[in-house]
Amino acid sequence: MTAAPRRAALPQIDPARCTGCGWCVAVCAPHVLSLHADGGRKASALDDAAGCTGCALCALRCPFGAIRMRRRPAQAPEAGPASDAGRISN
Ligand code: SF4
Ligand code: SF4
Repeated sequence: MTAAPRRAALPQIDPARCTGCGWCVAVCAPHVLSLHADGGRKASALDDAAGCTGCALCALRCPFGAIRMRRRPAQAPEAGPASDAGRISN
């Protein structure tokens, strides 16, 4: 089993600014965004974070500034920064 590649950033959609126009959905090549009904109005949502390439086209295309790319936090080392695990010694 191989781990899914980690994206540097993921889109964060502000539902208060999203008008449901669908431009971001249209521009997303891997089709991981879609419009969801939310209390009588539509808003975009990221359906598949693992499938997102982090290309940021959705954020660039949004006419209402509703999408911001949020950098993912750095992955915490499992054994601490001073660990010699996996280090090659000779
Ligand atoms: S382009 Fe912006 S306003 Fe339009 S659906 Fe996407 S997030 Fe919402
Ligand atoms: S960053 Fe790219 S791949 Fe990810 S949701 Fe936006 S347009 Fe789609």
